[in-house]
Amino acid sequence: MGDCVYFESRGVGAKTHTCQLHEQCKLTHGGNKYASCDKCNDSLSLADDKFPNEWIDPLYVIDRFKHKTDSLRNLLAGRPAFLFCGGPSALEFPLEHLDQKGTFTLAVNNAAGHSRFTPQAFVCSDPPMKFSHSIWLDPKIMKLVPTPKMSGRRDKLRMKKDKVFSRLDKRVRDCPNVWGFKRESWLEPDDRFFLTSGACWGNQDSGTKRTGQPKTVCTMLLGLRLLRYLGASRIYLLGVDFRMGPGCWYSFSQGRTEGACESNNRHFSVVNGWLCQMQSRGVFERYGVEIFNCFSNSGLRAFPHVPFDIAIRDARGIVEDKPDLEFWYEKESCPKCDSWHVWCENQSRVCKDCEEKWEADKRPDYNNKGKKKGK
Ligand SMILES: [Zn+2]
Repeated sequence: MGDCVYFESRGVGAKTHTCQLHEQCKLTHGGNKYASCDKCNDSLSLADDKFPNEWIDPLYVIDRFKHKTDSLRNLLAGRPAFLFCGGPSALEFPLEHLDQKGTFTLAVNNAAGHSRFTPQAFVCSDPPMKFSHSIWLDPKIMKLVPTPKMSGRRDKLRMKKDKVFSRLDKRVRDCPNVWGFKRESWLEPDDRFFLTSGACWGNQDSGTKRTGQPKTVCTMLLGLRLLRYLGASRIYLLGVDFRMGPGCWYSFSQGRTEGACESNNRHFSVVNGWLCQMQSRGVFERYGVEIFNCFSNSGLRAFPHVPFDIAIRDARGIVEDKPDLEFWYEKESCPKCDSWHVWCENQSRVCKDCEEKWEADKRPDYNNKGKKKGK
């Protein structure tokens, strides 16, 4: 009741409330068309033992036609993923490895247009016009944008050719592989980071008023929530330096004034504080996601360091660079023991279980299932 994690109160005395799963609910059953917490099988509280396994991420996501969709939830089905941010430390790594089969990378802002690899997904929070047309028009890159950027006057795009900017004849919603998500401009460094139907990217003025937290926003925070929503079980951070100084800005060509650096460093220290608090409160663990930083000297101190090559190995698992595609279409089991564990080379066959050997064109007939041959 009341403490169900999907329940959002509409205030004292309200007849119906917001439910993230059932849209509307009442606290107690009243024989009407709304769900009611006291009879709801989906009701889930943070204290339930089953919480981490049963919790459904309520992030509000829409497709290009502005239809609400659940099709991206748990898309990655527990695979590890990289979150690629713009910090220059990323350049120390062989980023080409991110293009290897089996990996999934969500890149933040223009880092998604990096010359050394192509990410599978992109997230932004600023006006879409600030990001390269080569990201927007690439169907291989899934674009995740706050819902207001998908319509009205905020969905305009630019292109750049021979160093000259011009208007692109496409809007955000006309681009391939575009998805919208609800964004919140407030953040409390606790479970609410995952429990809200909007992704929190920090506190703007309204958020600061609501939470009392310092005013700071950071697109990387959207990346963390989105990767959890997409179903990543481990997130490896790349290019998360949380430190900006002269000549040390981004992993792509984009400079910053001294004042902008100072202001960025102030923001980094606030976000570092938030993430350290969330990590020490066990928030990420509770929602089934482990986070590691591939940069050992990062200004973000919340997460343990894991070397890049180990992260790549984990992300790929048993996916091969050059998959061995021979004999997959041939259904061949052992004629003696029926095992599928058959080693094939050219015409030779060997059963790994019973060690039976035979030639493909001279398959012995053991007739070992009691079926009479040639009946
Ligand atoms: Zn066998």
